[in-house]
Amino acid sequence: MREILIIGAGMAGLPCAIRAADAGAHVTLIEAAGAVGGKLPRSSGQISAAGTRLQAEKGIADTPDEHFAEVMRISHDTADAAIVRVAVDHAAATIDWLQDIGVPFAPEHPVISYNHDVYRTRRYQWPVEKGKSILAALLPLLDAHIAAGRIDLRLNTEMTVIARGDDGAVTAMTLRDDAGHEITRTADAYVLCAGGYTNDPDLFRALTPNKPVYAAKIPISSGKALRVARDAGLQIDGGNLYMGMLGGVLTDRDDPLSVTFALNTVPQDRPPWEVWVNLSGERFTREDHPSATHREHAVNAQDALTFFIVFDEGIRQNAPPITMAKDTALQQLIESNPSYMQADTIAALAAQMGVPADRLANTIDHYNKVVAMGEDMAFGRESLPRALESPPYYAIHSVAFAMPSPAGIAVDPELHARDSEGRVVPNLYAAGEIIGNTRLMGNAYISGMGVGPTVTFGRILGERLGLG
Ligand SMILES: Cc1cc2nc3c(=O)[nH]c(=O)nc-3n(C[C@H](O)[C@H](O)[C@H](O)COP(=O)(O)OP(=O)(O)OC[C@H]3O[C@@H](n4cnc5c(N)ncnc54)[C@H](O)[C@@H]3O)c2cc1C
Repeated sequence: MREILIIGAGMAGLPCAIRAADAGAHVTLIEAAGAVGGKLPRSSGQISAAGTRLQAEKGIADTPDEHFAEVMRISHDTADAAIVRVAVDHAAATIDWLQDIGVPFAPEHPVISYNHDVYRTRRYQWPVEKGKSILAALLPLLDAHIAAGRIDLRLNTEMTVIARGDDGAVTAMTLRDDAGHEITRTADAYVLCAGGYTNDPDLFRALTPNKPVYAAKIPISSGKALRVARDAGLQIDGGNLYMGMLGGVLTDRDDPLSVTFALNTVPQDRPPWEVWVNLSGERFTREDHPSATHREHAVNAQDALTFFIVFDEGIRQNAPPITMAKDTALQQLIESNPSYMQADTIAALAAQMGVPADRLANTIDHYNKVVAMGEDMAFGRESLPRALESPPYYAIHSVAFAMPSPAGIAVDPELHARDSEGRVVPNLYAAGEIIGNTRLMGNAYISGMGVGPTVTFGRILGERLGLG
């Protein structure tokens, strides 16, 4: 019987283990945490796929070729075309499989979403309970394989060493449990599904030089396995394409790992009433630009990936809230979090923001003239609901942040890991966030190209390796 050693029991590792066991292999599944699931319980579970049964039921004509072309268009050809090709070619089978194992999708799906640049057709869906629905469908399958002895699940156990032989192939992996006991395991194939590294700012800085890291605190995205992979001579790349996501606010301005996804900056959902101002106190982009990628690149070009969303009392009273915190009034946020600021004058607000007061005053004055004229000559903004002229004034300090990890282990189209010389490691594979988000999305965010390829690559690796 083939022996498969899988590191990480999250969104990629679980489908990989289940499908390998389905195919007849014996799987040892290693998980550093005390429970399986990885990011599944908190992920929105959004997946894009072309040619699914869900699309056919709604008469939506779509093909993997069109999906591929749109991923490359949105990423401006910065995504890895060969890997994207594998993802889109197998995406429909992933959605169909998820449906077959009982993952419920909302009846109106697939849909178009404006959170990222839009696809020309409806090829985007997420389960009713998001990532939790996927986990709920996978757990009984996992349990059945464990009960039948086909999967040996080791929780609270970390992979700490990848040993490689003279030919480059992996000869063994070292596993350490939380009591400190170490064992060495060999297998016919080894699969790294150990997720991301956003919780390791030092590693982030090493892989993405000259960019500050802001992220949510997610301890399982420890980066430990990626450090082990780097020590074993694997190629880690893609950090140069990093682009932070919009909508982030630090709950503690001294802690870069305290990001919450707190603001609705999607003009198609909520046309902006506020102005966006950088650390120089100046506007820098068209706040209502219809392209999410355009807005993201504009923010990512700012110092410290930082900007402020500035408004006045008139906007506070009349606009739909920009904050997504349910049941939390702006006043409560101002009192509890220094990222939310309020002042009676523009000069006092500028002092809190740490921007030059005269520049901020000029910016607001100029914007108010733009509103009066009804034309934004500098940036072409169309949403000009009202001037900023009624105190108190408000600012929200927002940062572009890393949700998935940008860099990762380089892979070939069969998902073999590559070493630092670019050579394929014959018996070592990688899937999920550990191969790096930019491999699938380039320097853009593309709807459903995180969860989708993660589940897909786990699934197809399990099916292939399980058969031997
Ligand atoms: C709030 C949130 C929302 C998201 N929404 C979306 C979305 O809508 N669309 C999208 O495309 N993407 C989304 N993502 C990203 C997506 O969820 C991740 O890219 C994906 O979950 C990664 O899956 P994975 O299996 O690679 O890693 P994980 O699910 O993180 O699993 C990795 C597992 O490996 C374990 N592990 C780590 N190191 C070791 C080690 N050394 N030894 C043993 N085990 C180890 C970890 O404990 C973890 O359980 C979201 C992420 C978050 C946090």
